[in-house]
Amino acid sequence: MKRNGDFISIVIPIYNENQVITELYGQLNSVLSNLKIAGWEIIFVDDGSTDGSWESIGKLNSLNDKVRGIKLSKNFGHQFAISAGLDYVKGNAVIMMDADLQHPPELIPKLIEKWEEGYDIVYTVREDTGSESLFKRVTSRFFYNIFNKLSKSNIPYGAADFRLLDETVVIQLKSFKERVRFLRGIINWVGYKKIGVSYAAQERFQGKSKYSFLKMVHLAISGIISFSSAPLYISAILGIVIAGLSFFYGLYAILVRIFTEKTMPGWTSILVSMLFLGGVQLIAIGILGEYLAKVYEEVKGRPLYIVDKKIGF
Ligand code: UDP
Ligand code: MG
Repeated sequence: MKRNGDFISIVIPIYNENQVITELYGQLNSVLSNLKIAGWEIIFVDDGSTDGSWESIGKLNSLNDKVRGIKLSKNFGHQFAISAGLDYVKGNAVIMMDADLQHPPELIPKLIEKWEEGYDIVYTVREDTGSESLFKRVTSRFFYNIFNKLSKSNIPYGAADFRLLDETVVIQLKSFKERVRFLRGIINWVGYKKIGVSYAAQERFQGKSKYSFLKMVHLAISGIISFSSAPLYISAILGIVIAGLSFFYGLYAILVRIFTEKTMPGWTSILVSMLFLGGVQLIAIGILGEYLAKVYEEVKGRPLYIVDKKIGF
């Protein structure tokens, strides 16, 4: 395996990160300049920022032509911004990371070292240092538990979109056209030789998280739906169990009517069973609808993202 001294691409999605971009570039530049590699590039993917991030990318490009930029025509979302970046890289290995310095640039030499040892995917696992909010830690642990059980994967809790991919893996990823996109799942699914490296999570350098609660829920649902049909199965099982129970209850009601004088008003039992059944039916229809909506999204076959401008290409 000869991978020494090859070309490294860094892909960074940017959504209103003007406050961090210059510091990020500074740190990356000093780390990358000290590596013994043939060359490197940083591709910033501006995911519809409105805070002047694109102008900053332009300035960095005029300072150093290893900095390239792609401006998407609007906010497509983190997963799409990364996917856009992957379509433009020319490195033999690609490292994707967040802009906010929560993914420490000092880890890059370690990732490259593992790659040179022959690993195709070097993923990172965030150590719990308490720098993430309790809420985020609890919900993320909960999500990975459910996701892994339903999809029979084993994505480590604390997996982040900070990883190195060999170019062969990137070529495979580009062939995934699905719109319901959960990169952590896809990258876990493609196989190849992988290894994890752990790092201490940092505080966000500046600004606020760009992942609203709703965006997180959306990502979680996309992840589960695109990797598992278990929810459909569970709702069917639930239906069967409840139908079974209802059958026996019905039988009981008939027998009581025929053989006893106790045909009481029965208001409570009817109300409760009706509400319960109604609720279960709504949940099942909701799950079905969610899958249908995702199928519809895929069938439309729209592009994953639209590029507005490019700089440095
Ligand atoms: N991001 C993006 N588009 C979005 C949301 C986020 O490109 O719609 C980028 C963001 O600029 C950052 C990365 O995705 O580089 C991760 O976002 P953030 O750090 O806000 O997420 P958190 O660390 O809070 O999960
Ligand atoms: Mg962050």
